[in-house]
Amino acid sequence: MPDDLGRTNSKPLVDQFGRQVTYLRLSVTDRCDLRCTYCMAERMQFLPKQELLTIEELDQVAAAFIRRGVQKIRITGGEPLVRRGMPELIERLGGYLGRGLEELTLTTNGTLLDKFADLLVENGVKRINVSLDSLDPQGFERITRRGKLDKVLAGIDAALEAGLKIKINTVAMKHDNLSELPAMIEWAHGKGMDLTLIEVMPLGDTGEDRIDQYIPLPMVRDQLETRWHMQDAHVSEMNAGPSRYVHIRETGGKLGFITPLTNNFCAGCNRVRVTCTGRIYMCLGQDDHIDLRAAIRDSEDSAQALDSCLDRALLKKPERHEFNIKNRGEAPALPRHMSVTGG
Ligand code: SAM
Ligand code: SF4
Repeated sequence: MPDDLGRTNSKPLVDQFGRQVTYLRLSVTDRCDLRCTYCMAERMQFLPKQELLTIEELDQVAAAFIRRGVQKIRITGGEPLVRRGMPELIERLGGYLGRGLEELTLTTNGTLLDKFADLLVENGVKRINVSLDSLDPQGFERITRRGKLDKVLAGIDAALEAGLKIKINTVAMKHDNLSELPAMIEWAHGKGMDLTLIEVMPLGDTGEDRIDQYIPLPMVRDQLETRWHMQDAHVSEMNAGPSRYVHIRETGGKLGFITPLTNNFCAGCNRVRVTCTGRIYMCLGQDDHIDLRAAIRDSEDSAQALDSCLDRALLKKPERHEFNIKNRGEAPALPRHMSVTGG
């Protein structure tokens, strides 16, 4: 007998390497109001709207994962808050909290956060990630090719005021923000926010050469350690994600490092990604996928069809990703942009 989530099969999603998938990153749009130089091309071609999963279909996909044991969903994009119908989606997904879903969260560039902060809190969201790569208005505008820093800072303040816990994500770039990183860390920690540094990943053609952007994070850490005392976070503070954390004694805050290129973090991977067109990618760094949209749209029993897609997808989860940035002018490792897969 199906339960109130339509649950007929609640078999956990365990892959062939024994890793259980409990975390879904759900991209709701490929569109964005910014054009960050490491993420998108200046003139991005976005998908026709009919290719995107509808709000109802996104809800169906989320429910399918929850009934198979997914406990955490992160809404992402593109910029999730530009997606029409977001309030309805947040309300629908918030309704699964306490019914299998333990955490609903979001990654955003923050430009619309002042409008959405209260709605997120009202629907059970407790923590969000905000991406921010510079605190210098001109630097911010250059990196995002159009963004206004004030808007994002106002969004962050509104979210903090509404009671959301924020983690700042910062992509470390050799020429654009390297010298600013200590000031950004101090600023974030001063506001009670953790900050995670990310290495540039070779995803999609952005019109920029990755080798001009990429800086290995161990090198950044060495530089930061000449200024501050850092202590590795306790094992109990690590999650199955790719971040490795340290505590900084002088700032009193936590700093994360996401190092897909210098360190492989795949052994404990518990996540999968669904694109805004309903493709399930079992790994950010590989191109193998399964089309959930066709399963929903072409089948009479979409819950059943989704379920069998999840079983097939599990068999495709690779042991590890294969990112690399070696040579100038080299094509990106994967043709799809982070904004399509969902970062
Ligand atoms: N628009 C939202 C935002 O910026 O937070 C959500 C989507 S964005 C694709 C998610 C994250 O991916 C952001 O933190 C962004 O900095 C990161 N990102 C995008 N392209 C990347 C790349 N090529 N390498 C590393 N991180 C990237
Ligand atoms: Fe937009 Fe986020 Fe990509 Fe920047 S990183 S272009 S904000 S999707």
